[in-house]
Amino acid sequence: MFDPGVLLRNNIRKLTPYSSAREEHQGGEIFLDANENSLGSALREESYNRYPDPLQRGLKERLAPLKGVTAEQTFLGNGSDEAIDLLIRAFCEPGRDAILICPPTYGMYAVCAAINNIDIHTAPLTPQFDLDWQAVISAATPATKLIFLCSPNNPTGNCLDRHSVAEVLERFSGIVVIDEAYIDFCPDQSWLPALDDHPNLVVLQTLSKAWGLAGLRLGMAFASPEIIRVLNAIKFPYNVNELTQNVALEALEQENRVQTMVDQIRAGREHLAQALNELPLTERIFPSRANFLLVRFREAPRIYRELQGRGILVRDRTREPGCADCLRITVGTPQENQLLINHLTQICEEL
Ligand SMILES: *Cc1c(COP(=O)(O)O)cnc(C)c1O
Repeated sequence: MFDPGVLLRNNIRKLTPYSSAREEHQGGEIFLDANENSLGSALREESYNRYPDPLQRGLKERLAPLKGVTAEQTFLGNGSDEAIDLLIRAFCEPGRDAILICPPTYGMYAVCAAINNIDIHTAPLTPQFDLDWQAVISAATPATKLIFLCSPNNPTGNCLDRHSVAEVLERFSGIVVIDEAYIDFCPDQSWLPALDDHPNLVVLQTLSKAWGLAGLRLGMAFASPEIIRVLNAIKFPYNVNELTQNVALEALEQENRVQTMVDQIRAGREHLAQALNELPLTERIFPSRANFLLVRFREAPRIYRELQGRGILVRDRTREPGCADCLRITVGTPQENQLLINHLTQICEEL
């Protein structure tokens, strides 16, 4: 039986977490325990003068049923980037342990590992950006505590084959993190229903992409209650501020609006792909299930610079493994997409 406690760093296993008086003694009417300003706040309204709920209970109560999980299986953070960092800090001993990633993929896994002095093992995706589960399992060593899989993957846009992911989940004795930042754009099923069968699974999601709330900073990690308890024990006590908790609650009532935007973005993506396909400098458009396209161009660095000179920023991925000459382009508004195509058409004519 998988026991996350065995994988934990020693100091984390022994940690006594910070605890506030309000957490230790629920209830109370007069709050003179936390050195807040009881008169009110600098704002006109008497609001935000109290520390927020450290466990975001109201928000989790609303979010968990939406996701088909329990509040005890839910961690909320300052973006899902916080969960990535906390997972590494909980399970990887600096100077000794390692994470495993499958490049080309999201950059923060390696950055968080490097900041924490954690080794990075790699098992690259195939040239078609498929997961090579055998390569993953052979690249893992006893020092490998976490494997990060991203599906749909950033920057390639494809979903990882479910059978291959399942092989990794079954065979790896550490923790498998599946980053689903783009799952709302994807017809494939989330891995959330697999949580009950896989105590070593962590699923990451976020409000930053489909929900359109990147500025709010709210990320989610779903896992067994044991793993969630560890993340809660090592996070900053008030990691999700009250404004974010309130606005997120409001946003969760707008699922229909989000679905409408998701449909529009998917339509925009197909339209953009078609238009890009007509351009003479386009070599390959990789199939995407996210809100961006990875595109291989002839003369990608030049196109990148030309676009930049015209005020259009895209993401240069040309130095990522397997992404030579590739730019990552986020799907914009219909007007933005059209402007991009107009400029690219001009650039093609001039080159
Ligand atoms: C954008 C992105 C994130 C970051 O999400 P935040 O919740 O904004 O921190 C995580 N993973 C992937 C793959 C992303 O592309």
